[in-house]
Amino acid sequence: DMKMSELANTIIETIERAGGEAYVVGGAVRDTLLGRVPGDYDLATSLLPDEVIPLFPVVIPTGLEHGTVTIVLEHVPFEVTTFRSESTYSDRRRPDHVTLGVSLEEDLTRRDFTINAMALKPTGLVDLFGGQSDLANKIIRTVGRPEERFEEDALRMIRAFRFMSQLEFSLDDLTERAIAKQAETIQHVAIERVAIEFEKLLLGPGRAAALQAMLRTGLATYLPHVTSEVMGRLAQSPLQGVSTENVWTLLLDAGFPQERLRVFKRSKKQEQRAKRLVALVRLEQLTDWQRYTLTDEELLALNQMTGRSHADRTTLAIRSLKDLRVGGRDMIAAGLKKQEIKEALHYLEQHVVSGRLENQRSILLEEVSKWKNQHET
Ligand code: ATP
Ligand code: MG
Repeated sequence: DMKMSELANTIIETIERAGGEAYVVGGAVRDTLLGRVPGDYDLATSLLPDEVIPLFPVVIPTGLEHGTVTIVLEHVPFEVTTFRSESTYSDRRRPDHVTLGVSLEEDLTRRDFTINAMALKPTGLVDLFGGQSDLANKIIRTVGRPEERFEEDALRMIRAFRFMSQLEFSLDDLTERAIAKQAETIQHVAIERVAIEFEKLLLGPGRAAALQAMLRTGLATYLPHVTSEVMGRLAQSPLQGVSTENVWTLLLDAGFPQERLRVFKRSKKQEQRAKRLVALVRLEQLTDWQRYTLTDEELLALNQMTGRSHADRTTLAIRSLKDLRVGGRDMIAAGLKKQEIKEALHYLEQHVVSGRLENQRSILLEEVSKWKNQHET
């Protein structure tokens, strides 16, 4: 299996042999220079989609109107986009139209931050805006005048805080002042787009500092449904190493309104998981029953987030109802009514888990007949 970076270089060389130019761009360049492994590789090329398509065996036209195709090499997808510029963001949401076939320089100029505006190919790095130096100094700074760049696209303001959090960088002074001036324009951005960036911010190791900066600039005020109390509690949350599955736990724990969580697209299952976990994140100690209500994985996540070391579930008397030495048939044999069976099993389960009853068949059967007598009198 070839490494992703080698596959990206194969694409670059293939395009060059066809007379074009191509570079790895954006996040993958930033991550590579930081010594991190990029999650994916985006490429930019001088060739038009029509010219790229015949060069590779598997090409998916994922966004032709924006100049994007996806090349699949050894099952790895690579987004390859024709150099483009974007013009007039009249609604502060999306560019009105893109122009294909511009220079690499123009393509890099439209990008948001200096650290995201570099291009890399095997023979060299293109860094027109001081991205390397900002990486070294750990600074988030817009390409060009921040006022203009945030006027074009207000989403970039929350992206600034997102990268602060993910990379544990600080915000360039002028960039921060521009956000403070234009904060209210974030309201024009579609909530779903804001939520995607805000979630990435919440999952980053620099969450607290990024949220403080959001409060400082006033941007926090304009996030729908995020009150200043919620922001304050999020900024001070002791929860660490929160992963995507646990972002709802973090939000609920901070008092984010339950009925608004939907914008952070999660399944019903994740919602229930969050409700189970949020009840436990503040507890110093867990009862055996509380540990029993979690899955192994949830208990692990709880330990990770809280830094506590609750014993794993192997120390429990039983780990599920199936481990109980009696079952539904025994309940029927003991003369229980159908609607009583679930309740009786739950009663035994609770007593066995909490250690008040031993998980022994004879003991449990005796307890069932006691339970039955009590319920009949
Ligand atoms: P990640 O690793 O989290 O995906 P990324 O840098 O790849 O980070 P993306 O949102 O995937 O971030 O965007 C890819 C690139 O596209 C960015 O690095 C940046 O150059 C450019 N970009 C994305 N969104 C914007 C925007 N709103 N304004 C200007 N440039 C943008
Ligand atoms: Mg990306």
